[in-house]
Amino acid sequence: MNIYQRFDAAFRTAGDAPALICPDREDWSYRQLRDAVGRMAAALTNLGVSPDERVLVQVEKTPQAVALYLACLQIGAVYTPINTAYTAPEVAYFLNDAEPALFVANAPFATAVRTETLDANGGGSLAALAAQESTLDEAAPRAAADTAAIIYTSGTTGRSKGAMLSHANLASNAATLCACWGWRNDDVLLHALPIFHVHGLFVALHCAFLSGTPTIFLPRFNAAAVLRELPRSTVLMGVPTFYTRLLNDSAFNAEACRNMRLFISGSAPLAEQTFAAFERRTGMRILERYGMSETLMNTSNPLDPLDPLDGARLAGSVGFALPGVAVRIADAAGRPLPAGAVGGIEVRGPNVFKGYWRMPEKTREEFRADGFFATGDMGSMDEEGRIRIVGRAKDLVISGGCNVYPKEVETLLDTLPGVQESAVIGVPHADFGEAVVAIMVADQTVDKARVDAFLKDKLARHKQPKRVIRVAELPRNALGKVRKNILRDTYSDVFASDSA
Ligand code: AMP
Repeated sequence: MNIYQRFDAAFRTAGDAPALICPDREDWSYRQLRDAVGRMAAALTNLGVSPDERVLVQVEKTPQAVALYLACLQIGAVYTPINTAYTAPEVAYFLNDAEPALFVANAPFATAVRTETLDANGGGSLAALAAQESTLDEAAPRAAADTAAIIYTSGTTGRSKGAMLSHANLASNAATLCACWGWRNDDVLLHALPIFHVHGLFVALHCAFLSGTPTIFLPRFNAAAVLRELPRSTVLMGVPTFYTRLLNDSAFNAEACRNMRLFISGSAPLAEQTFAAFERRTGMRILERYGMSETLMNTSNPLDPLDPLDGARLAGSVGFALPGVAVRIADAAGRPLPAGAVGGIEVRGPNVFKGYWRMPEKTREEFRADGFFATGDMGSMDEEGRIRIVGRAKDLVISGGCNVYPKEVETLLDTLPGVQESAVIGVPHADFGEAVVAIMVADQTVDKARVDAFLKDKLARHKQPKRVIRVAELPRNALGKVRKNILRDTYSDVFASDSA
């Protein structure tokens, strides 16, 4: 039940067929990928990494990084990727929490944990060790429930939680998505997502790897590069920002999409205007789906964009529960609500994670007695089972597809001299979906430039406020809680005049 055995079987069948097509470097065939994985697996084993031990990884997106991921699966280690934007103090938290047997970083990092490097060119000390090895062939035996990966989510309390995903979670979700999205032998995936997150790492790559089909592997999203590669691609998986940026480019049109069969969107809400503008421009409907680190994918719009029997792909809906996945809308106590009612979205199925790493209490809090997981998202389900997300129960901000928990930013801002208090909210932004805005009770010395300078080395860029607004006081409710809905309403159009 080691998921790598499934990939390995597909890799052997694919042989010399292209696996990773890299416009900026040498392409890898499936034979080369398999060989690199086997060598990396041997190197990790020689470094003393054992099954169930964590390998914490903060590296750039390269074919070698993909090989490292697969090698961890092969030897039964727990792949634990983190955002490349995290700064040294943030990384220190993950090193402490994950207690990895090995940390793989872009560059040497001062820590007591054994550290090897894998750089943006695919070089570094780990690559050098792997190059000396011969390919390891066997995959470590794994039980279905053994942890394959830990994906850290942001935490409202400032503590990031590690979602433990099993080999069976990954395998079942990948097989379901391949079937639902009609993955074909001649599909070519255009990949411009980061690979430290479920979307780019599991959802996208697993579809291609289970099928032995090629992936055009871009180091990051760039509208010009995507436009260049579209004519030889058939599927693109993106966050909504990809689509707004493509639409901003007049060269993006039906002709550029002539070979494409599927545009998929997720990780953040796709604006209905974007869905409509995309259809006007290309004649195609974006397929929106919904998932999260803890559950992988839960719902998807149908493959057939227009068929009324299949339930056409609609704007503003994340579609239907995936086969084998139960989704319900429930009240705060977990009691199912009738069709049309808004409540908490709860999920049960083979996709749902085992629990939070070393947080049994937190895990218990979020699972119902009957096994449903309370996602923290709010939404409704119509008579047919079509789901709409109305918002997040907590105040998560999603900027450019990346999650920002206000509390983490506020806690830091409140330590800046001259600041009394702060409230961080997400405000609609044409390019990022939402942008972080800091509302602050502070003296005259506190302005955007000072906040920028203060946060520069403390927080990843996407968490830093794009606007700083000084106010005399924050609106509060009777219990003294800041009423962020009022702030959001008041400042909802601060970016409306930006052309970005
Ligand atoms: P993450 O764990 O980083 O993948 O973030 C998961 C969260 O992103 C979910 O709980 C939702 O709040 C949000 N999300 C993912 N997909 C969608 C979608 N299609 N529409 C709205 N929100 C989404």
